[in-house]
Amino acid sequence: MNETSYLASVGLEIHVQLRTNSKIWCRCANRTGQPPNTDVCPVCLGYPGALPVLNRRAVELTVKAGLMLGCEINRLSKWDRKNYYYPDMAKNYQISQYDFPLCLGGRLAIDTETGPRSIRLVRIHLEEDVAKNTHHGNRSTIDFNRAGTPLMEIVTEPDLSSADEAMAFLQALKEILAYGEISDCNLEEGNIRCDVNCSVRPASREDLGIKTEIKNMNTFRGVHRALTYEIRRQVAECVRGHAIVQETRRWDDEAGITLSMRSKEYAHDYRYFPEPDLVPVRLRDADVESLREQMPELPKVRRERFVRHYGLPEYDAGVLVADKAVADYFEAAAASSENYKAVSNWVMTEMLRALSERDTPISETRVRPESLARLIELVDRREINSTAAKQVFQILFDEGGWPDDIVKEKALAQVSDAGAIEAYVDQVIREQPKSVESFRAGKDAALQHLVGQVMRLSKGKANPQVVIGLLRNKLTE
Ligand code: ZN
Ligand code: MN
Repeated sequence: MNETSYLASVGLEIHVQLRTNSKIWCRCANRTGQPPNTDVCPVCLGYPGALPVLNRRAVELTVKAGLMLGCEINRLSKWDRKNYYYPDMAKNYQISQYDFPLCLGGRLAIDTETGPRSIRLVRIHLEEDVAKNTHHGNRSTIDFNRAGTPLMEIVTEPDLSSADEAMAFLQALKEILAYGEISDCNLEEGNIRCDVNCSVRPASREDLGIKTEIKNMNTFRGVHRALTYEIRRQVAECVRGHAIVQETRRWDDEAGITLSMRSKEYAHDYRYFPEPDLVPVRLRDADVESLREQMPELPKVRRERFVRHYGLPEYDAGVLVADKAVADYFEAAAASSENYKAVSNWVMTEMLRALSERDTPISETRVRPESLARLIELVDRREINSTAAKQVFQILFDEGGWPDDIVKEKALAQVSDAGAIEAYVDQVIREQPKSVESFRAGKDAALQHLVGQVMRLSKGKANPQVVIGLLRNKLTE
């Protein structure tokens, strides 16, 4: 049997830190960037006898995510202790949800090489994040600021069949979580972390092969590389006639390989039992309905609307909608403009370039949406040309202000008055006899050169259309 006759099945368990003000069981702030072990209290430090109190917002955000992903919302869910010993968890158990999670089922559509596919979810449950261990040579430190951060775990069916599909799924999921303001979705901060299950089987077989699990991936690129490696490794083992061992493996990013860590644990190893310190969560239909009303437009729907309503190409809609804040900005500018395509062009090129150069989010830009719309209007009315418009944009971006004031102050208004331009045209015709001759001999490129010379003399302010008209008139007299 050769390598092409194997199929891979990949499932993901994605941990997402929720965007709440406080932690899940206590009033400590849910934030990053503080000195180690300062956002802590007896509850999140796991002191015996310190009792948890559930953060309502964490439940709401999880249900909202579930609704956006088409899950069924359990009206009754409960908390369970997942027992294990590790220094990042002082209680020696994690409070999680075992048999009654908040959300069941659901699905997410992704685009694949062979067309769109719907990936099924098993469940979404809520749990607490643990402290953060850092290893320095032969010494380790623990920071409990992260302990008790509300953590939503999304489990998929093993419906993905390649590293590319896993990547597409994670990107689509991240987009939805960002749209719903469920999470900050900052991968560098570890807001989204992923365990990857993977098995291979001969194409002729229906039942899945033995799976391995790669733990704690915190970049999408890492997931892609690890999966590419792991699928190849498993196929090679099968081709050699070796059995795959059910185990947990670790991705070594530098070496680009997965390594065996330990034999895979089973649910019964954790000795799950109901959490005695928390009552079950009962959701009323009215609670769920009010969350359904808070659901934003999904990215896919918004892309379709951008194409339909604003007449944008699908490419533009894709770029703009990829970031909710960018899409919101576009819509704010489009509201005061009649030239939607120009708004899209300015946002996609000048705006995104300037933002990435300065490493600024669009929410903090000094270019007000109405200013961008006004700038486009000035260009459309031929009051300024495109070179001047870019200068005005840069000033708006750096200092803010109103386009008309900047045009006036920097004397950027386009000169369309033929009388004023004529003098430049005459001068160029006098000084460039060779170009004049070749234009008359039928070479159009010569005209471009002459136009360029006039623009230079006018310091870029001449209206190029007027310059071309004057040149043509005078040279064909
Ligand atoms: Zn606390
Ligand atoms: Mn978990």
